[in-house]
Amino acid sequence: FFVSFEGGDGVGKTTQSRLLGEWLARVTGRDVVRTREPGGTDLGLVLRREILHGQDMDPRTEALLYAADRAHHVASLVRPALERGDVVITDRYLDSSVAYQAGGRTLSVDEVENLSLWATDGLLPDATVLLDLDPTVGASRLTAAPDRLERAGDEFHRRTRQAYLDRAAQDPARWVVLDASGTVDSIHAAVCAAVAERLGL
Ligand code: C5P
Ligand code: MG
Repeated sequence: FFVSFEGGDGVGKTTQSRLLGEWLARVTGRDVVRTREPGGTDLGLVLRREILHGQDMDPRTEALLYAADRAHHVASLVRPALERGDVVITDRYLDSSVAYQAGGRTLSVDEVENLSLWATDGLLPDATVLLDLDPTVGASRLTAAPDRLERAGDEFHRRTRQAYLDRAAQDPARWVVLDASGTVDSIHAAVCAAVAERLGL
């Protein structure tokens, strides 16, 4: 089983992926691998720390670097884990590129999607949880110093949110959209129910 969490900064993806991982380990009895993009591998961490979160860059350069991180992540970590029969939960996956590099940076959705599918050799999650929240509320929840993209303007974050919602609406068999303004426990319960349904548990 392969599950991704998507949404803006500060919506609770990390917390909910941890809770879902504990729950899926109990109900499936399988090993659970929790990972993230960008930076789920050693190579990805270099891209994340040294390159992606530092300097400004052209949108196509940015899209290619996220795709490079993702290609390595899938080839070296995600696919091997799925082949072992593990559950993989990732904090962000290719839909982040559609939201940020297409929606936010205004590249073409089709081009970014095709680039991402090429990078992953077509691997899509079985279930994708979109934690949806007003970006100004998400920003106010962040504790660490904002990175380059977290400091991008309100319009940018509104476009990424809308790109996520548009994409989720096109594939309801994979996506579940949850209001991320609730309590951790209530969102966790909704995540478990929606993921169980999509995984056939
Ligand atoms: O903390 P997190 O791992 O979510 O940080 C990733 C950062 O990179 C976020 O600020 C997010 O907005 C940005 N990002 C992006 N395009 C992607 C994935 C992440 O702009 N494809
Ligand atoms: Mg962040």
